[in-house]
Amino acid sequence: PALMYYDQDADLGLLKGKTVAIIGYGSQGHAQAQNLRDSGCNVVVGQRPGSANYDLAVRDGFKPVSAAEAAEAGDLVNILLPDEVQAEVYARDIRPNLKPGNLLLCSHGFNIHFGQVVPPAGVDSALVAPKGPGHLVRSEYVKGGGVPCLIATADDCTPAGKALALAYAKGVGGTRAGVLQTTFAEETETDLFGEQVVLCGGVSALVKMGFETLVEAGYQPESAYFECLHELKLIVDLMYQGGLNYMRYSISNTAEYGDYTRGPRIVNEQTRAEMRKILAEIRGGQFAREWILENKANQPAFKATRRLEKQHPVELVGKKLRALMPWINAKEA
Ligand code: NDP
Ligand code: MG
Ligand code: MG
Repeated sequence: PALMYYDQDADLGLLKGKTVAIIGYGSQGHAQAQNLRDSGCNVVVGQRPGSANYDLAVRDGFKPVSAAEAAEAGDLVNILLPDEVQAEVYARDIRPNLKPGNLLLCSHGFNIHFGQVVPPAGVDSALVAPKGPGHLVRSEYVKGGGVPCLIATADDCTPAGKALALAYAKGVGGTRAGVLQTTFAEETETDLFGEQVVLCGGVSALVKMGFETLVEAGYQPESAYFECLHELKLIVDLMYQGGLNYMRYSISNTAEYGDYTRGPRIVNEQTRAEMRKILAEIRGGQFAREWILENKANQPAFKATRRLEKQHPVELVGKKLRALMPWINAKEA
């Protein structure tokens, strides 16, 4: 069975007299910093000036300092910057300010697992990854709850470092909901696989191809949008509440029969072979190398693809339709 930690397994007292540096006041940073402070911890925020996140940190009652100053002040130092900028900021501002006995933390294992962030001798590293977006990490905590977390420690982590990481997980509210023991490899590889194959890549490709097939056959783009994108939420909500079985209980028998007989023709053995290939690219570091080099080149392919994808017909028709449904709280990025 999976090893889970709850409030009684973690000791916030271990953070007494220590300073937690939160580097980056974005989605995770603003949530984890405030939760820790409300849990009685001494928190210093490292956030560059001149941005909305800096102003937010000030409004939330912090006195933001540079990443280097925060790293210098922190006994625990959590890097909550976008994954693709962590290596650079770490090398320049954080590593020179780490001291033996410090604990280096992150919320996603990409950089440590793939060797972009290497803690110096005498510094333990651990991962405490909330399984939810930052605004939920904050709002659930305020309600008295928490967002479940994953925890992992480096192979050579000391018992003291491990206990400190668990205390950190308690400080952000994770142990209220449950903290699952994992490894850097498992967290990093399953996270990348999930977002590439199912959650982001798989779903987006499925929605687009379904939409394109209907439109190409002469159906109205509006109908194709409702069928292939809008209704997806209703289906996912049912799965979230009761798994595939509850979703299938709720839909018509006709839809259920179509699910059983047609679904496996869309996601088939060829898809499985491709999933295995993608997993192998993740585990072997090819995906990481590709994404790291793309960033070193200032993201030319990433930016071009993003521009093209914004112009896809499903996006253009969707924007019009969402504007006519005020209750869905339409968003634009
Ligand atoms: P955000 O993009 O929300 O926050 C980015 C922060 O980094 C901001 O404070 C931003 O400041 C700062 N920043 C960006 N670029 C630079 C730079 N070049 N130099 C210095 N500071 C910079 O990040 P997230 O909270 O989404 O992600 C942080 C970590 O948490 C990542 O490892 C991510 O994988 C992980 N994670 C994120 C989750 C989420 O829900 N978002 C869920 C679980 C894990 P500025 O405003 O000045 O740009
Ligand atoms: Mg991810
Ligand atoms: Mg239908």
